[in-house]
Amino acid sequence: MTTFFKYCPNCQSTNFDFPNNVRFHCNDCDFTYYHNIAAAVAIVFTFEDKILFTVRNVDPDKGKWDLPGGFIDPGENAETAACREIKEELGIDVFSEDLKYITTSPNNYLYKNVPYRTMDVFYECELQTDVISIRAEDEIQDLIWVKRSEIDTDNIGFVSIRKVIAEQYIK
Ligand SMILES: [Zn+2]
Repeated sequence: MTTFFKYCPNCQSTNFDFPNNVRFHCNDCDFTYYHNIAAAVAIVFTFEDKILFTVRNVDPDKGKWDLPGGFIDPGENAETAACREIKEELGIDVFSEDLKYITTSPNNYLYKNVPYRTMDVFYECELQTDVISIRAEDEIQDLIWVKRSEIDTDNIGFVSIRKVIAEQYIK
């Protein structure tokens, strides 16, 4: 695993350790930084026997299937983050009580050569319609409803989403 800091951010030394890109420690000035996991949310929208996937318009995994969701902001709880991301990406109003907790799953998110690790919180939300449109066209290139029996998990980019869909939604 390559490290993504070239120098100590405090003293510019190259004499540091950063095992597994978790705990950065400078051997010259004792500067210490934990590259902790980030929290994120993903929402499984269902309508009848179908699940809504987004098609990513940005890297990582541009062109791959994804779920609506994103990173939780500092000070925000997971349900609020889910409702905010849904509004930003799809333009619809969903409330915390509409969300059913499913599970959590760890993910890797490589962005501009920085390997973020996340813990994704999954919620399910049943919709009364499958008429949904994209608001965040910079992030999402397409929306697709897929019958559970016809989901090919090879189309799904992130390992966390592939795992949860396979384990919870494909019987
Ligand atoms: Zn240092």
